[in-house]
Amino acid sequence: MADAQANPGIPGSTRTTRLAPSPTGDLHLGNVRSLLLAWAIGRRAGWRVLLRHEDLDASRASGDACDAIEDSLRWLGIDWDEDATRQSEHLDPYHDAMRRLESRRLVFSSSLSRRAVREAAGAPHGGGEVRFPAELRPDDERAWRFDGSDTNFRAITRPGPEIVEDELLGTHRFDPSSEVGDQIVWTKAGRPAYQLAVVVDDHRQGVTDVIRGADLLPSAARQQRLHADLRFETRPRWWHLPIVHDESGRRLAKRDGDTGVEALRAAGVRPDRIIGLMGRWSGMSGTPRSITAAAFADLLDEDALRRMVSREATEPLRFTKEDRRWLLEP
Ligand code: GLU
Repeated sequence: MADAQANPGIPGSTRTTRLAPSPTGDLHLGNVRSLLLAWAIGRRAGWRVLLRHEDLDASRASGDACDAIEDSLRWLGIDWDEDATRQSEHLDPYHDAMRRLESRRLVFSSSLSRRAVREAAGAPHGGGEVRFPAELRPDDERAWRFDGSDTNFRAITRPGPEIVEDELLGTHRFDPSSEVGDQIVWTKAGRPAYQLAVVVDDHRQGVTDVIRGADLLPSAARQQRLHADLRFETRPRWWHLPIVHDESGRRLAKRDGDTGVEALRAAGVRPDRIIGLMGRWSGMSGTPRSITAAAFADLLDEDALRRMVSREATEPLRFTKEDRRWLLEP
């Protein structure tokens, strides 16, 4: 990483990262941590930092939630370059990508339900994921044409390993064909699925460095496949960050409503407390102390980041009652 830079969005900067929240409600402390780390890594190095709302799931995402996330980020001291984008506002590039895959005969429509796939495929794969096997690919030629219709489309996943080289977590080997099989790239809502949308956007926005929670590490392998299928010449570097758990060891999630930024803000918590807690979690101090996001970025050198990652590999981080008490202390 380069030294800290004061100017955001340095002209001529060759690297770009992005903050990509899903606007489905209040950001929880796990989301904040990943976003803050991505922002701090990008800002220290003088990269372009973009904000992209991943709002394609119309049943869960909303424009108000996008506004609320921007407000929470600003309040925390996290900024971004250029106007924030919303995936739902630019659907053409996803159609183009589907046509590209169609021209290589790599996508087909399938209206088989999850249940039908599960039954046909035998026991579900570990993690509850349902694998779509090659035998269920349709024979009907018409199914291999993409018409943008409201049907699930899947991309062929060829067998064999896919190696993910991660800047923080090292080398990981996946086998998407035995994990997920032919993955969904277009949904029956008539919109791209997460994996396709991310790949298309990271490419068209010139994202060189994807920094996000480690729960998405297996997705990196699937996204690499799509990068290759779309014949994109470059693909981003990956940086997967350890994630935060609750006291019982479960991943912090939106169901833990009282760890939401806006809920904490409404309870009178100051932003520099929240960032201070993130600082302690990142090993910047033994006991938490209030700091600004800018100070956090200054303190996060590469050694601190790597120490944090190796510590959490053996001792996963938990948001404890003491953490909460400290946030709420007057
Ligand atoms: N929108 C995803 C989330 O909030 C992140 C996707 C990504 O970083 O690739 O979990």
